[in-house]
Formats: sequence, structure tokens, C-alpha cells
Amino acid sequence: MSIPHWQHSYQALGSRFTSRAKPEPASSPEWMGWNEVLAEHLHWPQDLRKTEEALAAFAGQTNLEGTSPSASVYAGHQFGEYNPQLGDGRAILLGEWTLSPSEQYDIQLKGAGQTPYSRGGDGKSPVGPVVREYLVSEAMHHLGVPTTRALAAIATGDRVFRNTFEPGAVMVRVAKSHLRFGSIQYFAMTRDGDGLRELVDYAAERHFSEITGAKSAESTAAKAEVLLEETVKRIASVVAHWQSLGFVHGVMNTDNMLLSGETIDYGPCAFVDTFKADAMFSAIDSRGRYRLSNQPGIAHWNTSVLASCLLKILNPSEDRAVAYAQSVIDEFPRWYTDAYKIRIAAKLGLDSFRPEDTELHDGFLKILEEDQLDLSLAYRWLTHQALKDSGQTPIGDLFTPSGGLLDWLSAWERRRASNKAESQETSGRMHKANPVVIPRNHHVAAAIADAEAQDYEYLQAAFERWRNPFDWQDNDRLWAASPTPTERVTRTFCGT
Ligand code: AMP
Ligand code: MG
Repeated sequence: MSIPHWQHSYQALGSRFTSRAKPEPASSPEWMGWNEVLAEHLHWPQDLRKTEEALAAFAGQTNLEGTSPSASVYAGHQFGEYNPQLGDGRAILLGEWTLSPSEQYDIQLKGAGQTPYSRGGDGKSPVGPVVREYLVSEAMHHLGVPTTRALAAIATGDRVFRNTFEPGAVMVRVAKSHLRFGSIQYFAMTRDGDGLRELVDYAAERHFSEITGAKSAESTAAKAEVLLEETVKRIASVVAHWQSLGFVHGVMNTDNMLLSGETIDYGPCAFVDTFKADAMFSAIDSRGRYRLSNQPGIAHWNTSVLASCLLKILNPSEDRAVAYAQSVIDEFPRWYTDAYKIRIAAKLGLDSFRPEDTELHDGFLKILEEDQLDLSLAYRWLTHQALKDSGQTPIGDLFTPSGGLLDWLSAWERRRASNKAESQETSGRMHKANPVVIPRNHHVAAAIADAEAQDYEYLQAAFERWRNPFDWQDNDRLWAASPTPTERVTRTFCGT
């Protein structure tokens, strides 16, 4: 492996893509959270771990050697309305931290002050959204969901004004890249054909080089095909993963969809506790465009927007370009459904997903909704039924099956008895598909409330607990339990 170092390949594309930006110095920064496991993975220099030097650099007080801060332009459909120019208004890219030619991470400071794309906003973030993203993105990673990650969360000591003054914070975000559907949209919609071509070449090289490898000498059109097809597959797969866990993203605008397929933008997101197919939490999504049940359809729509922006590159013949793009977009439902079925088969302990299993699983969800049962605990309870080890765990104290669910159980057991492959492997998979703990909103809210009062103990405890979601641990009556009626959070805010 080469020595890790900074690169600035995106900035090198030129001023149509990025502008210089400078983090604003925080007045009295302090660590809220430091992710040593990720630092280890990134081979982050020892002298820049949880040190005063690192704190000063991430808080914009000093320049981190080798970095070249910039902000990127993009556009996007926000709640269905096209906005021709967005861009990194509250995020500054330090550069690409490069472990090897094929392993490169964007490192961004989120909330470090204004950039040329701030559009009148302050470029800052209150503590709340930083704590939410720091906790939930790392929890998602450990649940196995492709996602941007968080290296650090830092309180700035400064105040930001939202409805009132709130304490400010910065998050250090790590991503395979921050190339968005909206990045492609920006160049397509401004009719900058050369820029669009350069971006497609760059994105294909950065994310799909194993596939385009043989095609690297080939045309941008060939790369655009790979980019479209692979991105659509990845988005179908990641959204199927969200659905299986009851994760409501909350703001699936096209500028919040990454070409890498990683989950990004943990604004008003939340996991369902008591199952509701139409669960929604975001205070700004009054019509429920991004409710749980709508997520696959919205993802499909977003991919069609991406496809339409690539038409000019895909084929000089408009008819052929449209036919190709349509053929890829039409696969979305199948790719999504296949990915979802694999997840659900694992969660239900089935060796494969048979056509009749749709009815079995729909019946399960219907009972959860009617009887107001907790989604994650219900799957975990099933896991213990399959493993016959619930006596060793607190599941009996945390989850009481309803009569309806007990009735359903016999159909499920009959179906499991007809599994062809066996049981230990299938049950083991069940264990790894059904988390004991998810980042429940009431814990996130409690961590935020404490962090706003400069107490980071709860945040750190939650962070630690959610790094190991599939095994029971001490004190799990606290972390695994469904919220009580007074703890339940029904609204989330993205804190813009
Ligand atoms: P988001 O809701 O995080 O997807 O943000 C949508 C757009 O608004 C992006 O271009 C952000 O950079 C921008 N934005 C959000 N909050 C701020 C802020 N406080 N200051 C400047 N720009 C912001
Ligand atoms: Mg965003």
C-alpha cells in the first residue's frame, strides 16, 4: 500500500466544478466525538488523532497540511421542484484522502462556514444536526448499509441563529465521493456538454473502474452506460436495505442521492419503532412525499431524472439514447424487488424467497401495524423463536407478541420447515439480519439535548453501543427497548 496522502482530483477539473472556500475559525472548539475505529481504517496519522492539532485544524483555526479547501457546485430537485443551483453551501471539501489508487475518500467539514454556494445561508450547523448525523451515519455503517461516515463531531463554541440562538458544531464527513445526481443535473441543465462529459469520465473512473477498466480507452458514452446502470443498481439496493430496517431518510432530493450509492444527508431521518407503512417524521415534509412506503418509488423517479440528464452523452441518436435509458430505468423495480426479497428472506430465516412468501411477509407487516408492534423487536423476537434461545436474552421483557402474531407464527414455522437448505446457516443469517439495537430517535434526541448542554457522555455511549448492533450487550433493556409513549419522537428537523 502506498503512504496515505491528499489528492485534489476533483478540484483539478477546474473552476466550473468547484470554488475555493475557507473554513471559518471556531472560537473555542471541543471534541464531542472522535471515531477512532474509522481513523484506524483510514490510516489517519497518529499525531492528528484526538489531538489539539487535529481539533484546531478541523475547527478551521489552522490549515491542515496537504489540504486544499473547496466547495462544489450542483443542482437538484428539492421536493420535486428543480433548483438550478445549489452546491456545497455548508460543507467544505478538504480533499481526497488517498489510501491507494482505488481507495480514496472525500473528507469534508460540514458546518464550517460560508462558501460561494451558501445562497445567503450562514454555512453553519447547530449541534443537533451534527450529533444526529454523527450517530446515525455510523450506526448505519455498522448495520451494513452503504453510507457516508463521520470521523469527528466538534462543538465550535460559537452560536448559530435558527429560531433562537443554538450552539454550533462541525462534522468531519467521510465519503467515497460527494458526486450527486444533482452534480450531473447541474451540467446537463446548464447545457455544458464538455463539463458533463468530464464529469461522467471522472465519476466512472472514480467509482466504476473495475467495470469500465476494460473500457477505459472507450468513449464517454460507454462510461455513461456503466455509470447509469451501476448507479441505478446501487440505489435500488441501498433503498431496499433502508426499507428492510424501517429507515426513513426524509429528504430524498436528487442533490441528496450519491452516484456511489452511499446514503447521505442525515437531516430529518429516523427509524420506525412501532411499524407504520406510511411512517414519516420530517417537519418539512408536510405532504409525506418521502414517507417510508414512498421511498422506492421516489428513488425510481430520481434515477429517471439522472438518466434523462445523461441522454446527450449516451448516444448521438436521441431515439437510441432514450431507448437505452428507458431500458435501464425499467429495471429499477426488478433490481429493487430482488434486493428487498434477499433481505426479507434473511430476516425471516428463509432459504430463498418464494413467490408465496410475499403474502407471508405482507401478513407479518400488517399484523405489526394493526397491533402496533415494534418492527425491529418483532424481527428479533422471530430470530429467537428460530434459534430457540430467547431464555438467554431480555427479548421476553422487551417484546410481547400479539394474538395475531402468535397465529401468524404457525404459517411461518410451516414455511421454515420447508426450507431446503439448512437451518443453522439460515438461522445464523437471521441473527445478522435482525439488529438488537437501531439508532432509535428518542436516544438520538437525548444525546442531542445533552450535547447542547455540553455533556457528551450519552452521545459517546450511544455511538459505542450502535457499533455492534447484532449482539445483545449489558444494559440492553435501555438501548433495545421501544420508546415509551412519552419518549416517542414524532417530528424531526433537518436544522438547515
Ligand atoms: P440539504 O437540506 O442539506 O440537502 O441542503 C440543501 C442545500 O441547502 C444545499 O445546497 C446546502 O448546502 C444548502 N444549505 C443548507 N443549510 C445551509 C446553511 N446553513 N447555509 C448555507 N447553505 C445551506
Ligand atoms: Mg444535502
